[in-house]
Amino acid sequence: MRDHLAEVDVAIHGAGPVGCALALALRGAGLRVALVGRKAVEFADKPVVPAFRPLALSYGSRLILERIAAWDKLRVTPIETIHVSQAGGFGRTRISSEDLGLPALGYVADYGEVASRLAEAVDASIGWAADSQAPQAKLVVHAEGSTGDQAAAKDYGHTAIVASIDSEPQARHVAWERFTPEGPLALLPLEGRYGLVWSRANAVAAETMGMGDTQFLAELQAAFGQRAGRFLKAGARSATPLVLRYRTQPGAPGEIYLGNAAQTLHPVAGQGLNLGLRDAWDLAGLIRSSASEPLGSPSFAAAYARKRRLDARAMLRATDLLATLYVRRDPLSAMLRGAALTSLDLFPPARRTFARRMIYGASAW
Ligand SMILES: Cc1cc2nc3c(=O)[nH]c(=O)nc-3n(C[C@H](O)[C@H](O)[C@H](O)COP(=O)(O)OP(=O)(O)OC[C@H]3O[C@@H](n4cnc5c(N)ncnc54)[C@H](O)[C@@H]3O)c2cc1C
Repeated sequence: MRDHLAEVDVAIHGAGPVGCALALALRGAGLRVALVGRKAVEFADKPVVPAFRPLALSYGSRLILERIAAWDKLRVTPIETIHVSQAGGFGRTRISSEDLGLPALGYVADYGEVASRLAEAVDASIGWAADSQAPQAKLVVHAEGSTGDQAAAKDYGHTAIVASIDSEPQARHVAWERFTPEGPLALLPLEGRYGLVWSRANAVAAETMGMGDTQFLAELQAAFGQRAGRFLKAGARSATPLVLRYRTQPGAPGEIYLGNAAQTLHPVAGQGLNLGLRDAWDLAGLIRSSASEPLGSPSFAAAYARKRRLDARAMLRATDLLATLYVRRDPLSAMLRGAALTSLDLFPPARRTFARRMIYGASAW
């Protein structure tokens, strides 16, 4: 095993969802590929895999996961409608799968489920190496997630509180995004429950984490209102500080960064993994078609940067704008928010364009 992996074409550091997706997308390309790190399943009881994190996967991500044969076994709940509103202001919009003629706008799955199914799909054609035994490679791909050595562009001063929530009526196929003056609050349907992602200012989030379940549920109900029914029970809560990090250059000769290792976004609108899967898909396409261009060359790194620039920047700006515009309390921001939601609601073409952008990335234009 060690000899086989002494030198490979592509070494992918980090076996999270994005690293595994790239390895799977390179199957059958006639390349020696190694994943460096441990399978997510081996971390089942470690903080490295979040105990619970609902992930909204776009329909575009489903298409990628199908192409790499990692979709069929994934336990997901389809989202048929997304309801967006703001607390204390006018304007709301509903985007439905019918608007786009798709079976679903997206799907919700737990992070652990996605990471485990992808790692299981990685078969013997791909080598595994421990961190300490990383092979020499023509191309080193960094998929280690948000490693902290990226330039931290912005600390949002907010923390995402994540928990599963039981409600009456049970969650079905509607995802709710509510912009409150403190930060966005998302409820994603997952197997009859909601996955909550609630962004609050750090000090308030620390207090919220310390509350008993009854007080927590009452506070959540007050912040969200009654439109999704009555919140009955909360699962274990976790807290993630929210920081925007990105690399200005996702590649250098012989080294490429993708997924959260390239950009870690605010979770509003649930775009991080969707973007990371598109990074992996596009990189696999470039690697497959790079017969005349050495993988470690400056021109290969430049081609990857060019290919991903528009999508990555657009998503970074869109999520950053949503995260900041929606916590501003001045009347002009409130009016702009209301006008944006109302125009999406009144003009189906605008709604479709917005939804397509969120589903397929910048290539939707
Ligand atoms: C609260 C919250 C909600 C979110 N909701 C959504 C959502 O709804 N939709 C969405 O698309 N995205 C969402 N995201 C973002 C999403 O979780 C990430 O974008 C996604 O996990 C990135 O995948 P990745 O494989 O790049 O990194 P990671 O998931 O971080 O995986 C990296 C892997 O690399 C391993 N690793 C780290 N260091 C090393 C090393 N030195 N050597 C080897 N291996 C290493 C880690 O153990 C891990 O297994 C959310 C994020 C948060 C915080």
